[in-house]
Order: sequence, then C-alpha cells, then structure tokens
Amino acid sequence: MRTIKHIVVHCSATRRSMDIGAKEIRKWHKDKGWNDIGYHYVIRRDGSVEKGRKENVIGAHVKGYNKHSIGICMVGGVDGYNDPQDNFTSDQYETLRLLIDGQKEKHPKAKVLGHRDFPNVNKACPCFDVIPWYADLKPIIKSRTLAGSAVSTLGIAGGTIAEATESIKPLIEYSDIAKMLFVAVSLIGIGLVIYAKLDDRKHGRR
Ligand SMILES: [Zn+2]
Repeated sequence: MRTIKHIVVHCSATRRSMDIGAKEIRKWHKDKGWNDIGYHYVIRRDGSVEKGRKENVIGAHVKGYNKHSIGICMVGGVDGYNDPQDNFTSDQYETLRLLIDGQKEKHPKAKVLGHRDFPNVNKACPCFDVIPWYADLKPIIKSRTLAGSAVSTLGIAGGTIAEATESIKPLIEYSDIAKMLFVAVSLIGIGLVIYAKLDDRKHGRR
C-alpha cells in the first residue's frame, strides 16, 4: 500500500448545470495525453461517487505531491463567468465527508487539504476552504466513533495520551453546547416571566 500523506480535494471547474462525472473527466485528461483520469474519486452533483484511478496507483492532480496523495474531485466550482464559486451541493459535501472519513481510517496521519493549499499553486481549486471546513466537521465525525475509539485507546496500552485526549475532546465540546443550551433556555424562561409580569401591570392586574 502507498503511504498517503495528503488527501487532496479538487474541483472540476465546471458550472453548476454541468452534470458530468468520471467518464467525462477521464476523456479530458486522456485528450491531454495522460494515460488515465488524474483523480482517484469524482463526486457528482447528486453526491454519488465514481472511481477514477485505483488507490494504489499514483494520481496526477497536484504537482510534486502525487506520490503520497489521494485526489478527490468535486464536480462544479465556477459560475457563469467561469469565476470560482462554491456551488457544491449538500449531497456532495456529505459524500466528501464520508469519503474522507474512510480515507482517514486507512491513513490516520494524512492531512486533508485543498489543491490551492499547496505551495506555488496559482489556482482557486477547489473553490472552497477545505482546511477549516474539515476542522469544523471533526467533532461530529469523532463523536460518531467516539465510543469505539475511546474503548480502543483505553484498552490498548500502546495508545498515547494525545490520542486519548483527542478522543475525549468532543465530549467536552458537546457538554459545552449542552451548557450553553441550558443557559439559553433559562434566559428565555426568565424573559417570559418578566414579560408576563409587565403585561399584568399594563392591564392593571396585580
Ligand atoms: Zn485541483
């Protein structure tokens, strides 16, 4: 198996109305003289995923970093003037998340980033900010596997403290959200009581 250091998100730089997939992109890339499509996966507008190159085959999608990376292409990314536009569908984002989840399970150390996040790339590809998008998702992804990972981290002596802390972090974040919700609900309750009192006064009821 190849060592995967980067999971790279791209876009096809096509308009939102263009419902294309791996077949069309494979043709474009072959027309350029390549032997196959450059990406390993293509995510269509409807969120379905199509295979490009086999994962164990080096792709052609990010100059100088193909050897240790996986390339995923989101279909879309430009507006009617061919300017960069984050016009991907929620189905595409959902599929991208699942696809990256699967890759991270196989390659836990791999970094998730967009094509434009590599040095000396003068492109907008993939037309959205992959790093913060993925960072924001992390707690959701981890909480889903939290029970499993916490057990394995605690169960295996080899598990590092960093891993343990990482798997516990989402719990803290979730309890923070719970606290905030509790405070919000309390404030609304107090507000309603005050409002009712004022309303009573206005109507001369005491
Ligand atoms: Zn790209």
